[in-house]
Amino acid sequence: MKKVIILLGIPGSGKGTQARRMTEDFSYGHISTGDLLRALDADDQADSADKQLLADMKSGNLVADTLIYKLAFRAISEYLSEGKGILLDGAIRTVEQAQAYQEFFKEQGVEHEVVAIEMTLSDDTAWKRLTKRKVCEECGYILPYSPDNEKKTDCPDCQGNLIVRSDDNPDIIKKRLEEQGNAALAPIVLFYKEQGVLVQVNGEQSIDAVDQDVRQLLGV
Ligand SMILES: [Zn+2]
Repeated sequence: MKKVIILLGIPGSGKGTQARRMTEDFSYGHISTGDLLRALDADDQADSADKQLLADMKSGNLVADTLIYKLAFRAISEYLSEGKGILLDGAIRTVEQAQAYQEFFKEQGVEHEVVAIEMTLSDDTAWKRLTKRKVCEECGYILPYSPDNEKKTDCPDCQGNLIVRSDDNPDIIKKRLEEQGNAALAPIVLFYKEQGVLVQVNGEQSIDAVDQDVRQLLGV
């Protein structure tokens, strides 16, 4: 199985869920740049140079990428030196970032270990998944959007009333899909296709079906 897995997908593609399952099942290191930044922020014992970079980034005096690369690359090389694989989820938002990571993988001698998995999903399905999921008024059960689930009104757990979540602000979701939808993802997908490392799974399927396809592609 390849040691460097890059998960690509628009919001609502189930990328986060898939990443959690895979890192648990394969004992891979999960590289989330958001988590790395939060950990640095919360760690009083952290390297003072890193803390300074974080302060510079927050005040707008540093391009965020500089610090993120430093943190991510360090975490990745630690996992690799322990013989572990790594999984990148949501870390790559631009072609420049994809190139920087690819350069780093070459330096680490793992460029042949890279596989990019795109969980394909239309912007339309993403919109429905993000705005039409339902929650149980009684127990908080979350029913993800699907054409079948759209008709359901009773909670499968407690028979309580299912309602569409009102805290999912449509304006924020619309902006997320404009910034992180298929138009934004396409050049990154193309980059990995040109590198010859892209595989695609149909993200319109259920989470379990996507999971099965991903494992088949990885040969596990
Ligand atoms: Zn319920």
